[in-house]
Amino acid sequence: GVVVGKRVKSRRKWKRVMGVLRELEEGCETTVSRLRQVVDAMAVEMHAGLASEGGSKLKMLLTFVDNLPTGSEKGIYYALDLGGTNFRVLRVQLGGQRSSILSSDVERQPIPPELMTGTSEDLFDFIASALQQFVEKEGNGSEPPPIRRRELGFTFSFPVKQTSVSSGILIKWTKGFAIESMVGQEVAESLQRALDKRGLDMRVAALVNDTVGTLALGHYHDEDTVAAVIIGTGTNACYLERTDAIIKCQGLLTTSGGMVVNMEWGNFWSSHLPRTSYDIDLDAESPNPNDQGFEKMISGMYLGDIVRRVILRMSEESDIFGPASSRLSMPFILRTPLMAAMHEDDSPELTEVARILNDVLEIPDVPLKVRKLIVKICDVVTRRAARLAAAGIVGILKKIGRDGSGGISSGRSRSDIRMRRTVVAIEGGLYSSYTLFREYLHEALTDILGDDIAQHVILKVTEDGSGIGAALLAASHSSYSVDTVQ
Ligand code: BGC
Ligand code: MG
Repeated sequence: GVVVGKRVKSRRKWKRVMGVLRELEEGCETTVSRLRQVVDAMAVEMHAGLASEGGSKLKMLLTFVDNLPTGSEKGIYYALDLGGTNFRVLRVQLGGQRSSILSSDVERQPIPPELMTGTSEDLFDFIASALQQFVEKEGNGSEPPPIRRRELGFTFSFPVKQTSVSSGILIKWTKGFAIESMVGQEVAESLQRALDKRGLDMRVAALVNDTVGTLALGHYHDEDTVAAVIIGTGTNACYLERTDAIIKCQGLLTTSGGMVVNMEWGNFWSSHLPRTSYDIDLDAESPNPNDQGFEKMISGMYLGDIVRRVILRMSEESDIFGPASSRLSMPFILRTPLMAAMHEDDSPELTEVARILNDVLEIPDVPLKVRKLIVKICDVVTRRAARLAAAGIVGILKKIGRDGSGGISSGRSRSDIRMRRTVVAIEGGLYSSYTLFREYLHEALTDILGDDIAQHVILKVTEDGSGIGAALLAASHSSYSVDTVQ
């Protein structure tokens, strides 16, 4: 009786857990037809965001970058890259010939978390001090000290309402940053003030979103690059738009006839997005509820936490994880790199899964069957994220007529279309360090576009592109290059 009772109980327990898993799978479903609906919604929202200010959750921000670097930029330029998990200081030496970056030095450091929610003075002083130390080290090297004022590209990876290529106002914070007094303030000016205070003779020549920096470097190396996507701590995209399509800004004239638009797609929303109760709870408990809905399903800041919520739910429904661990109730304790490590554990006993469950979540001794379940949860959450990101990319391609569908409406058959080579620059840890994420994204691109079209779409990783690209934009918008023209 006792043995049978136990077995029945454990069978019931698994049934409940499997029910939770099935519900998760259904909630995260990304069939090709659903992805196509997301593609269409993205393209529609892009139109709406370009038509009028506030016309869409997609802000479609002007960047005032109307010309991407040409390759003739020359000299030494600097960049600061702020907005993800790490902060970077860079120096780039440009050779003045097609795509010749003679050298680039990069220093990375994690951002002290208390600075993300402190005061803007502290944050900008931290940045300025890192830059100062970086510049001071140069003097000891073999290169002579610069004879002119240094120029700087500032990559600031948050939504900014630009007033020129080198100035703009912070619209809101994302990704766990929350310095309320900064909202509505001039970003470049705040940095310039901190630089001046430290006596650093430097000028902010370009203020750019990380997507824009990435596009600049991508285009510098490959002229077929038309868009850039970041999938890291947060997610976003920018692309080159025709000025006449930017209806909300009548009379916008640029020499190139185009301008880079920062979509801020992290805030994209559509009823077609597959949303679960975990997403709803995560959003409600986040510092920015009702905001950045797409980002919260896709980017590195959140994926691990979705998985944690699923495990927590299962542990409430059953005792397969043993006695409840208080760790499971701690938001963001399961970081996405740990999730990736569990997902990609290819040891037969899933020892990495066991280690992370034990060390991070304080859940010891789970049987192999349960470890496999953990891998499955990671898989469902990551696959959805990667496929949604792919749909977003195709949405951009559709908007600019590079998804291969243009030919059909003009009467040609699909096979007649000579699809142009289309490069999308891409950056961020999820794409570059999480193999399964990357594979799912590629697979979804092919699912949506079909093989014929997808083979013309190339995703290219640009290492440190957001920072190097900002230095390039500082160079192409340098006051010195204006001087030489005059
Ligand atoms: C920000 C974007 C940024 C993206 C990637 C988002 O949270 O709103 O401006 O490009 O993260 O860093
Ligand atoms: Mg970054």
